[in-house]
Amino acid sequence: MAERAYGGCAKYIQRDGELDRIGQHAATLGTSALLIVDGFILERYGERLHKSFSDAGVEAAAERFGGECWTGEVERLSEIARQNTVQMIVGVGGGKTVDTAKLVAMEFGLRLIIVPTIASSDAPTSAIAMRYHENGSTDRSVYLPRHPDFVIIDPKVVIEAPVRFLVAGMGDALTTWYEARANRDAGTKNYIAGGYRAPIAGLAIARQCHETLMNDGRAAKIAAENGRLTPAVQNIIEANTLLSGLGFENCGCSIAHGFHNGMSILPETHSMLHGEKAAYGVLVLLVMEGRPNEEIEEAFSFCEDIGLPTTLADLGLGNTSDDDLARGARAALGDNEPTHSTTAELSVESLLAAIYTVDALGRKRRETVIR
Ligand SMILES: [Zn+2]
Repeated sequence: MAERAYGGCAKYIQRDGELDRIGQHAATLGTSALLIVDGFILERYGERLHKSFSDAGVEAAAERFGGECWTGEVERLSEIARQNTVQMIVGVGGGKTVDTAKLVAMEFGLRLIIVPTIASSDAPTSAIAMRYHENGSTDRSVYLPRHPDFVIIDPKVVIEAPVRFLVAGMGDALTTWYEARANRDAGTKNYIAGGYRAPIAGLAIARQCHETLMNDGRAAKIAAENGRLTPAVQNIIEANTLLSGLGFENCGCSIAHGFHNGMSILPETHSMLHGEKAAYGVLVLLVMEGRPNEEIEEAFSFCEDIGLPTTLADLGLGNTSDDDLARGARAALGDNEPTHSTTAELSVESLLAAIYTVDALGRKRRETVIR
């Protein structure tokens, strides 16, 4: 295949204390900004953010994010951006804040700086925003014409957040290589400029994402639990955010995310984080694609060691009926789901067989460990 396409955020910066230098980076893009900030982040870091912008000579207004990335909130913030005639949007916070900032910036073709305060998913670097309904249910993915100008992450901020977010980020990053390979083998498309085959660069990044998780994931979790920033934590922040972000966008998603999306219709999974559900989806993908035992065991032991779900009970689906699981599986096979990007044979039956097999394996492995 001769076709291929690559895309990604223009600049990625990760450094301890970079929160105090966001203004300097913003000054390279313009002189006025609207900051969209998570409420508790604004309370905790608002003063430092304001100082960073005023020191750099960038006029900045900060607006508290309303909590849901839906049309009404995007319109409210867009109106504020319009009234202030700002040149850039700066989104500071978790996934929904970041996605809202992307949508507001797109509204007026403004410059965009993304400042993730947790490393829980690979969304920040991408030109994709997930839109929700007011009640929190998923609306649709929006593909933006441009990537963020900057993604700036301060590990000193990330380490303050609960470790569960970093672990979930590793779950999301765990999907990247396996789903990239599934797309490569199936000859399916990535998310760049309407969809092309994955470039060598994308596959290499996805592969390196996996290597980094296997090398540094366990040590990073332990260090983060103790509030310590070590080289392993720094590497995992990059893997979760940059490597996984460039990897999924340039190579495509597959069964792991399809499983995530399908199971998300079941309310039992609503307390689970994106990367936690997707990690179980990785195990489902490996079983469905008939990958070698060593590979399946490597993925299981990684999930077990860092505390990602490996049984249905872990996912909150321990008491879910067969019918409900079948509903989730059917949703995972919807026409627009990435589940189809694989060489595996797909049906509700084959997907359910893999879901139950992973659960049986997960329980068996745990019993063996306890005895
Ligand atoms: Zn994901």
